[in-house]
Amino acid sequence: MTSARDAFDVARIRADFPILSRRVHGKPLVYLDSANTSQKPQAVIDAVDRFYRETNANVARAVHALGEAATSAYESARDKLARFVNATTRDEVVFTSGTTQAINTVAYSYVLPRLSPGDEILVTRMEHHANIVPWQLVAARTGAKVVPAPITPSGELIVEEFVARLNPRVKIAGVTHVSNVLGTINPIRELAKACRARGIPLLVDGSQAAPHLRVDVQALGCDFYALTGHKLFGPTGTGILWARREHLAAMPPFFGGGEMIRTVSFDGTTFADAPHKFEAGTPNIAGFVGLGAAIDYVNEVGLDTIGAVERDLLAYATEALKSVPGLRLFGEAKEKAAVLSFLIDGVHAHDLATLLDQEGIAVRSGHHCAHPLMQFFGVPATARASLAFYNTRDEVDALVAAIAKVRKLLA
Ligand code: PLP
Repeated sequence: MTSARDAFDVARIRADFPILSRRVHGKPLVYLDSANTSQKPQAVIDAVDRFYRETNANVARAVHALGEAATSAYESARDKLARFVNATTRDEVVFTSGTTQAINTVAYSYVLPRLSPGDEILVTRMEHHANIVPWQLVAARTGAKVVPAPITPSGELIVEEFVARLNPRVKIAGVTHVSNVLGTINPIRELAKACRARGIPLLVDGSQAAPHLRVDVQALGCDFYALTGHKLFGPTGTGILWARREHLAAMPPFFGGGEMIRTVSFDGTTFADAPHKFEAGTPNIAGFVGLGAAIDYVNEVGLDTIGAVERDLLAYATEALKSVPGLRLFGEAKEKAAVLSFLIDGVHAHDLATLLDQEGIAVRSGHHCAHPLMQFFGVPATARASLAFYNTRDEVDALVAAIAKVRKLLA
């Protein structure tokens, strides 16, 4: 029987992404930075282009044909996202500019009014700053504090330690589904169960999960799920906050302005129902139309196929990188997405990334917006190769060959 992996035609997939055929510094582009932002298939580029050519108008305001078509295209993206995360209703999907806005919305609208001095917000040591700093800002206003749950040296959350910190002072817990630095896939169902048993809401940062794994918010059992469109093969400036209906109903608006009201007078304003009460102002309409097209594209390729292809690439890349003398790999969790952070003895991550770029290879270097994680490992920065289903084993070989060249150059 042919597996999804065997039947996968990567050349055909790559042809869907125009940018992958360009050259950089005279070399074929090897794009290994999809955790930073993913590349976009032609279908997404076309959807945005078509929107501006044929449908452009503001949403939810105009009764003319273009206004109605724009509203319908925009709202149909909400339906697609609702199905994509298996929301119970489309009204649980709030459009945001990305994960950052989604988490800030929860921090200011849901958590801030509930915080008192001495309260806690539980996160993990592997969080992106987007799942740390918003909590710190609301904690600073109220005398609450942000508490990190520890991880192991191989980059796994210590679940018992997380659970042990779920005390009555904790007003929310925030956990990344997949670490952007380590690739670790956290056991969200288990964590959600522990949180639920104690009446503590759980927010999941799904930025790095949604492009790789099937997300089912009902099965996960969390309260809030944030994702960002530009890592999901869609346009920048798009994302969603999914939240349980009862939470959204109880939350006051975060931003005020047009489109989020029912009535306005100087005696008082009443607000639209969720999700619209969280969507003040003119949104990134074309962006969400593009994100809808990205969801269609991902569904067509299939998340099971994507998962199988990426697992194969991850295993191949892990073995290949481990064969490089002097290479230290960060993150060796048993459940892991295709993200490989590493350092080469005696070579600064930025120098490595700069020299790899000369070979046409795009990797990220730096702290990856995860200072506390870098502090845990005692390093200022790492290089990170992050793979998507459009990458190939040949590209992994090119990375390994280029690292060998850099080592020789710097030896
Ligand atoms: N959370 C994680 C795990 C991420 O990797 C990122 C992006 O790098 C973010 C949050 C922030 O996403 P955005 O900047 O799109 O809001």
